[in-house]
Amino acid sequence: MRHICVLGSTGSIGVSTLDVIRAHPHLFKVESLTAHSNIELLAKQCEEFKPKMVVLGSADVANRLNALLKTMGLNISVEHGAEALVTASTLTSVDTVMAAIVGAAGLLPTIEAAKLGKRILLANKEALVMAGDIFMSAVASSGAELLPIDSEHNAIYQCLPDANTSNGGSRGKYASLGVKEILLTASGGPFRNHSLDQLKEVTPDQACAHPNWVMGRKISVDSATMMNKGLEVIEAHHLFGLPSEQIKVLIHPQSVVHSMVRYIDGSVIAQLGQPDMKTPIAYGLGWPLRIDAGVKELDFATAHDLSFEPVDLQRFPCLSLSYQALAVGGLSPTILNAANEVAVDAFLNHRIRFTQIAELVERVLDQTQVIGAMSLEGILEADKTARQHAQLMVKGLNI
Ligand code: NDP
Ligand code: MG
Repeated sequence: MRHICVLGSTGSIGVSTLDVIRAHPHLFKVESLTAHSNIELLAKQCEEFKPKMVVLGSADVANRLNALLKTMGLNISVEHGAEALVTASTLTSVDTVMAAIVGAAGLLPTIEAAKLGKRILLANKEALVMAGDIFMSAVASSGAELLPIDSEHNAIYQCLPDANTSNGGSRGKYASLGVKEILLTASGGPFRNHSLDQLKEVTPDQACAHPNWVMGRKISVDSATMMNKGLEVIEAHHLFGLPSEQIKVLIHPQSVVHSMVRYIDGSVIAQLGQPDMKTPIAYGLGWPLRIDAGVKELDFATAHDLSFEPVDLQRFPCLSLSYQALAVGGLSPTILNAANEVAVDAFLNHRIRFTQIAELVERVLDQTQVIGAMSLEGILEADKTARQHAQLMVKGLNI
């Protein structure tokens, strides 16, 4: 039996994780759950899964949940704040952590669990973009098992040779095993065929209506700008130890081929599935065994039209910005991620236009000089500085 902490249990990935866990009560026991403010859903999850401990974002919501749990006759420890997130992910009884908090807030509880050698199921790609080298070294030195949950990286993981080596020790070995490059597929999002002029006018609700996937609002906007794919290029670089020239992006509107690996002998190996995160989540939870994900099977009787096309970088500049940040290295990916989080939030709150997300990220990258050490503290400091710059720029851009 595996003992699980779900960081971000009330989000899209968190809820899907609990769906898979619910279907296998003999395999999994939930030890801790965390959310930011959604006490109604967290209370329901407490009633069903009876964790030892739950964490919320502030004292106010934690007190309200505590009162609610008392009326339900549940005796569960309710804590709040960043340190409590780390407590939840590092409980001695926890052996597996689903990292599904959105954004930079997920970094510390995930990396601290990795340092203790727990199995990490990584959905929170921002943690790896911000602090990839440090994160991967923590995984390598503790021997933690790191399983990618992001569907593309999970697909690549399944298509690589010797996927049994599930920790950072495998970095850099793929070239010697005949891997030529990895091909990340991208649906192209809801605005794949929009002109630049049309992109200027799109609304947050249109950006969040993804054609194939149901996801949280931040990643939905990232998919629409294709920053999501840019973050995924950086994520793939860290996970698989490949240079950016060996990480390519292809538009594949049907989201059936989740990604591919090209080998030097001409073979290309792909992983196919429904666009449903329960498949990679079940893969991570069950690894090294396969478990039922409760997902509808792909039906090859109803003909599938699988098509692929190149990305138009003019209309989707966020992808180029990510490749650039990766090439510059150092703290650039941290700054890119911080600026993007602020820009997406401003767009979702109708403070900037869709096309200004990329403009803002580019300006913050150009204008933020942070000469920090590549330590966790240096990274958190660069994240803070970049957010402050981005927030000032949002004020200047207000529409
Ligand atoms: P959601 O927005 O649906 O959920 C986010 C979760 O994190 C919620 O539980 C939320 O709590 C909690 N949360 C939000 N802000 C904070 C904070 N500051 N501190 C602590 N907890 C917080 O996101 P998704 O589930 O869509 O995405 C989660 C992660 O997984 C992201 O990094 C995303 O990039 C990645 N991912 C998601 C995919 C998807 O299909 N959704 C696919 C691949 C990767 P509350 O509900 O209370 O606000
Ligand atoms: Mg993805």
